[in-house]
Amino acid sequence: MTLQRTWQAAADLIWSADCAGCGRELASPLCGPCRADLLGPVSRRESSAPRLNPADGGPALPVWCAAWYAGTVRHAIVAWKRTGRYELSREMTRAIARSAEAVGPVLAKITSDLVVAPVPSRLARRWSRPGGGTEALALAVAEALTGAGLPARPSMALARTHWSKDQAGQASRQRQAGREGTTLVRTRPDQPVLLVDDVLTTGATLLDAERALARAGCQTLGAVVLAVSPPSGQVPDARGV
Ligand SMILES: [Zn+2]
Repeated sequence: MTLQRTWQAAADLIWSADCAGCGRELASPLCGPCRADLLGPVSRRESSAPRLNPADGGPALPVWCAAWYAGTVRHAIVAWKRTGRYELSREMTRAIARSAEAVGPVLAKITSDLVVAPVPSRLARRWSRPGGGTEALALAVAEALTGAGLPARPSMALARTHWSKDQAGQASRQRQAGREGTTLVRTRPDQPVLLVDDVLTTGATLLDAERALARAGCQTLGAVVLAVSPPSGQVPDARGV
């Protein structure tokens, strides 16, 4: 057993007693109220991501989501991304599958295979369990859509050719320039695509993926995410834990 796996097993034992959202001691990865925060009403939330809203007033990429990235939800997702805890993966995949069920009727007219593609994550390589992270989310979304009768299949259709240096301190235009050319598309050009990600903030990552797919001849129909950062200065429904 590698050192990383040993650490992971120890972390699971220790953390499994605490709710990852509020920290209360429980024999469950999430307590009832924190699970309810993650399973809020499914709605379109692309308007909260400024980069997804074109300056010319054109339609934004639709994004379906059931939670705001704040309070207990934020704690739980951060804990999941840092540890890859299996128990939390189960909660997260269950949550995003519920959002996908709401997308099903919207995409009911799809006739060709819908590719369900996870957005490449900088953290993915750190997640110790195979199939974790956004890959697991995409699988759950594809299963939910298939269960609703849609011809959907998960695919690692997007990949990063490289990650540029930390772009946090760069101006917006520089960050965009740094992303150009970093997304590789690995799917047929005529396939509709549904993107899957964990958290939506500015929308720059989804926009980058959509543009890369468009250059490859694919149409992005929308995205499903676990949580969306609330508009600046607002923390809707956060319990403040
Ligand atoms: Zn809790």
